[in-house]
Amino acid sequence: MSSDQSAQAEVRLRAEPLREAMRQAGVEALWVSRPENVRYLSGFTSPADGKLLVLPGGATLYTDARYTVQSGEESAHESVIARPPATVEHAARAVAGLRVGFEADHLTVSELEVLRQHWQGSEQPSTLVSTQGLVETARQVKTEAEIAQIRAAQDIADAAFAAVRPGIVAGVREDVIAARLEAFMRERGAGSAFDITVASGPRGAMPHGTASARVIGQDELVTVDFGAKLNGYHSDMTRTVAVGNPSEELRRLYRAVLEAEEAAVKAIRPGAKGGDLDAIARDILVSHGLGEYFAHSLGHGVGLAVHEGPSLRGPSQDVLKAGMVVTAEPGVYLPGVGGVRIEDLVLVTDTGYEVLSRSPKEQL
Ligand code: ZN
Ligand code: ZN
Repeated sequence: MSSDQSAQAEVRLRAEPLREAMRQAGVEALWVSRPENVRYLSGFTSPADGKLLVLPGGATLYTDARYTVQSGEESAHESVIARPPATVEHAARAVAGLRVGFEADHLTVSELEVLRQHWQGSEQPSTLVSTQGLVETARQVKTEAEIAQIRAAQDIADAAFAAVRPGIVAGVREDVIAARLEAFMRERGAGSAFDITVASGPRGAMPHGTASARVIGQDELVTVDFGAKLNGYHSDMTRTVAVGNPSEELRRLYRAVLEAEEAAVKAIRPGAKGGDLDAIARDILVSHGLGEYFAHSLGHGVGLAVHEGPSLRGPSQDVLKAGMVVTAEPGVYLPGVGGVRIEDLVLVTDTGYEVLSRSPKEQL
């Protein structure tokens, strides 16, 4: 087999665990519309312009004439070239008489109306069933090939940070730092996984402080949160760095977050509950009197989406399994003072964990 063929064979296997989830959800077919899910199940790299119909005996990719060649090369399944609603008309024959799930978290109301019109009015009407998270749940445990992609994305991000870190100094604008990180990743063939956070001084109190025109000052902390996107897969990492000599108050925040982050990472293993991991980090920050400033959850899964399952937050009953890739990213945000977040990207292994993000952390 060529490498393309073995990649397609791997993609075809992904539908198997999904079929069990479909059976439990009481559906015989699934109309997949969320782009990450279409890509996951087909290998088609322009999934925003495709839909995938998973059937009892196989699957069909629907896309339009702009992708005739590309879908033929990439898709692990038969491709049908048509534009909506011809797509839906074509699929009507395949789903006649079946219970067909649709993705309630993604399909628009108007798209659902088109499905109803074409699939429920025929002589052998199908039954449309609302489903949630079927493919997303299957995506949580990564294959070896997927882990290799995430690892490669993180390696590029680590190299970018090493290259850009010496230039994070007083007098440089935040958005210049973000542009340098992005340019480095693009030169290595990756994109930016999301809008890069570079939050300096008091802006550090904004958990999602997208890089602004603010000039970094002396004796400040700078929070940098970014990732690479490579072949559809993401990385995600945050480092908080010191410029000059930050105050003892800022150093105290930093040390507390680092302690919480390291404790949470060390507790990652198969069987650990997302909510319990969140509590480990939160309890440490509470013990430092900083609990109320940890305003978000501990972490999330990372893969074809930068934020996906499992959830590492307070009420989460999600249980970690080997092959999941998750973040641990506690932070504290003090309005008017500044903030600290430290985030690692972590693979759950058979026996524990492996930290994929290797960029050094400051000791303050
Ligand atoms: Zn992040
Ligand atoms: Zn994150």
